Amino acid sequence: MSLPTYQNYIHGKALANKSRETFSVTNPATGKVIYHVEVADEFVQKQAIESAKAGFEKWSTMTPIERTRILNKAVALLRERNDELATVEVLDTGKPIQEANCVDVETGADVIEYFAGLAPTQLGTQQQVGSDFFYTRKEALGICAGIGAWNYPLQIACWKSGPALAAGNACIFKPSEETPLGAIKLAEIFTEAGVPDGVFNVVQGAAEVGQWLTTNPDIEKVSFTGEVSTGKKVMQSAASNLKDVTMELGGKSPLIVFDDANVSQAVSAAMLGNFYTQGEVCTNCTRVFVHRSVYQSFVDELISRTNSNIIAGDPLDPEVNLGALISENHRNLVLSYIEKGKQEGATLLTGGHTLSPESAPNGFFVAPTVFTDCTDDMTIVKEEIFGPVMSVLVFDDEQEVISRANDTVLGLAAGVFSQNIQRAHRVIHQLKAGICWINSYGNSPAEMPVGGYKQSGVGRENGVETLNSYTQTKSVYVGMTDIESPF
Ligand code: NDP
Repeated sequence: MSLPTYQNYIHGKALANKSRETFSVTNPATGKVIYHVEVADEFVQKQAIESAKAGFEKWSTMTPIERTRILNKAVALLRERNDELATVEVLDTGKPIQEANCVDVETGADVIEYFAGLAPTQLGTQQQVGSDFFYTRKEALGICAGIGAWNYPLQIACWKSGPALAAGNACIFKPSEETPLGAIKLAEIFTEAGVPDGVFNVVQGAAEVGQWLTTNPDIEKVSFTGEVSTGKKVMQSAASNLKDVTMELGGKSPLIVFDDANVSQAVSAAMLGNFYTQGEVCTNCTRVFVHRSVYQSFVDELISRTNSNIIAGDPLDPEVNLGALISENHRNLVLSYIEKGKQEGATLLTGGHTLSPESAPNGFFVAPTVFTDCTDDMTIVKEEIFGPVMSVLVFDDEQEVISRANDTVLGLAAGVFSQNIQRAHRVIHQLKAGICWINSYGNSPAEMPVGGYKQSGVGRENGVETLNSYTQTKSVYVGMTDIESPF
């Protein structure tokens, strides 16, 4: 049976490229190619820009409330097609359907709905200056580029297009080459909902296509999600014409479990923050600091639950709660970190090997892995692994753990477990991270701004401030009296 080939999505429909260049996409749970995708060649790139210019002219002059109505239709379609879209995400990413079914599409739709609701609330200001006055207008930027990672492909496309479109911009989105289909499905939904042609275009390909977006002079802003090292390159290219940037990058986030914590709850958080989406989540709490007095009970419960509650297998099986890593290369990278952990003296308590479950024997699985006896200088404690690998560290003192938790160039997220409310807030206020949880981990509602401190990012996604970052302020000074001129 021949496999389908998808094309770039430009101006409300699929557009064939001229070069005939394609790439293939592999299902991580089977290791088999499932479809091909055409690369956005020069012809497609040119069309994408011309179309986005035309789309922007139309969309930006519609009233915000008209945009709200159209975006809300897209939200309804996303929710209606939840199961179909969740399946697309499972086949592309290898994550379990039990997650994709209730998280990926839903949280994407929530964000578009949130920004659709906010669109008509954007106000300018007016201020009197003597007998003159000025007012300000919030105007759209123009064409914004979105570049996405492979772990939450559809959700990332929604999180970038939602505020961009609500503010009246056009968006050209490039998904990761490993997970290209979700963005096409979103584009089809936008078109069906009535978003004018050219307002949301999807270009496909690897780094070169991303690079083209970041250097193109017609693009005003780049919102990027991916690795820190790629983010630096993107920011550098974006500087060529001083594009605005939002950077959602990697993390090595701490979870601090104090002696008065509810240990079972803290174990739940640590497992969620290391094994959900088989560990491929940017905010993961991969450095788990546990107070010495609860260390043993924490580790005992963690190991017992890890050894008995994980079900790896065909991610389309609703019982499965551990999926396959995105690719063979990525699995090898995760395994190489595990080897380094062993070599550098950490104790491997569980996992550390590949899995070959009966229902998905050729998938790129890695068993949930827990290291103890970790020290702050170990590679597994310092570097983002992006797989199901948890490092547990012991601490004795509040100030000690705060400074150890902050001893990293990254600052995406952090969590604290304590029943002492003063301590919980006191500690969280001293952690240098943008997304923080107290007695919780991982929830990220549309209303809450998210983004990193230090090298974990620039700017925010979600929350009210994000809509502002897709607009620019125009000040208009109005003279009410004759100009006093010395000339
Ligand atoms: P990458 O940085 O490898 O890629 C991200 C995107 O950038 C992909 O679409 C990629 O294309 C593209 N790209 C690669 N090189 C360039 C370039 N020079 N110029 C422009 N675009 C380029 O990240 P991953 O896809 O591997 O994603 C994992 C990373 O994403 C982790 O570090 C994770 O922490 C981070 N992440 C951060 C989140 C946050 O909100 N802070 C959320 C999710 C993930 P292609 O893949 O096709 O080569």
